[in-house]
Amino acid sequence: MPNSFVEDIMAIVTARNPLEPEFHQAVREVAESVACVIEKSPELRKLKIFERIIEPERQIIFRVPWIDDNGEVQVNRGFRVQFNSAIGPFKGGLRFHPSVYLGIIKFLGFEQIFKNALTTTPIGGAKGGSDFDPKGKSSTEVMRFCQSFMNELYRHIGPDTDVPAGDIGVGTREIGYLFGQYRKIVNTYTGVLTGKGLEWGGSQVRTQATGYGLVYFVTRMLEARGKTWHGLRTVVSGSGNVAIYATEKAQECGAKVVAVSDSSGYIVDNDGIQLDTVKRIKEIERGRIREYINDHPRAEYHEGWRGIWSVPCDVALPSATENEIDGSAAQTLVNNGCIAVGEGANMPSTPEAVRIFLDNNVAFGPAKAANAGGVATSSLEMCQNSQRLNWTFQEVDTRLQLIMDSIYEQCTQAAEEYGSPGNLVVGANIAGFQKVARAMLAQGVA
Ligand code: NDP
Repeated sequence: MPNSFVEDIMAIVTARNPLEPEFHQAVREVAESVACVIEKSPELRKLKIFERIIEPERQIIFRVPWIDDNGEVQVNRGFRVQFNSAIGPFKGGLRFHPSVYLGIIKFLGFEQIFKNALTTTPIGGAKGGSDFDPKGKSSTEVMRFCQSFMNELYRHIGPDTDVPAGDIGVGTREIGYLFGQYRKIVNTYTGVLTGKGLEWGGSQVRTQATGYGLVYFVTRMLEARGKTWHGLRTVVSGSGNVAIYATEKAQECGAKVVAVSDSSGYIVDNDGIQLDTVKRIKEIERGRIREYINDHPRAEYHEGWRGIWSVPCDVALPSATENEIDGSAAQTLVNNGCIAVGEGANMPSTPEAVRIFLDNNVAFGPAKAANAGGVATSSLEMCQNSQRLNWTFQEVDTRLQLIMDSIYEQCTQAAEEYGSPGNLVVGANIAGFQKVARAMLAQGVA
């Protein structure tokens, strides 16, 4: 039954969503993990819970016209896929990147359902974005784009309906422009977006949350093998929000981070990455990672981002983008003695790479568990906005650590219960699915 269940589901998904391989990949992984749960529960099968979960509640595609600095009209496409609101308002980031199309948003929105369920907070799953590329645009161009994007999006979101946040290409600057336009249109000050600036409704720790949460999660994975971060050579891909704060927390815990990257190439600094330099280049100057060697001539710069996985390390934290570690990169990591992989990005390992890690006893923390700290802290931002209160850094950070501990426990327990002890991929999928499935059963065919 499990195999035929997976193939039946895949037949529906591929027929209904042709040419969306990332979405198919995400559905297959979850279907393979939860087939044993569905098999044991005739009610889940009869009421077609999984068939319903793979169909978004609502998908919105819209035109985003804006005027560039030369006075030319530009036209981009905007998306919001509201996937599942069984356990709370839709919640998930916005991605601005030229690679964005409906299939990317669907894969991200689908993953978000289970990730959000694992956070222990009441939020449903969604994702959105645009094929707009903020790279090389002036701030006024980014502002005009964000305003036009919100001119349509505002009618579909709200603090109790759908609360977007950032993702690739959407940081505090973009959230500011989006929030300003929303507030102007609806004439109400609510927590409709998360990732806001600290002085206008944002939460302490939100900027750091995904990276810090990733390191808290990997700490538990290492502990289970009797290890700590101390002295572990660590490679982090990307140099954006997730990568920077994963590096910061890993260094605080005693790791030696030796490489980071961007989509052009990667740097290796065997003295240990100087994070202040990376922050200045990426957060302030919005430059390229190659500029790092101007300050640190002993470091090396290599063109091409894929090569980063050939840098020998004990721990790998892929924190750039989907499918960045393929089978051959995974095998190289294993051959070089890597003992743990924690996914900071969404679905950064291909299915073949995941198989190689699991077969070679590499501790593997899948994205929907390991990077859930970002959305969990967004959920804490929503709580603070509703209360009109601001919690201290310490309070939010403590809650984040407790949430990451709880996610780790849920994953290990579910994996154990369903006969795959130590397999956090199966554990995360089952634990997230069960929570959403129970809510959907309780709420009828809706
Ligand atoms: P940022 O835009 O801040 O940074 C992205 C980084 O990844 C940049 O260094 C970028 O390089 C690199 N990158 C992006 N696309 C590619 C590509 N196709 N090939 C190689 N490198 C690439 O994004 P975030 O740090 O916010 O997001 C990174 C990952 O983490 C994404 O998968 C996102 O979905 C996931 N994530 C983010 C969360 C958050 O809170 N921000 C929460 C949970 C998951 P360049 O500058 O050259 O484009």
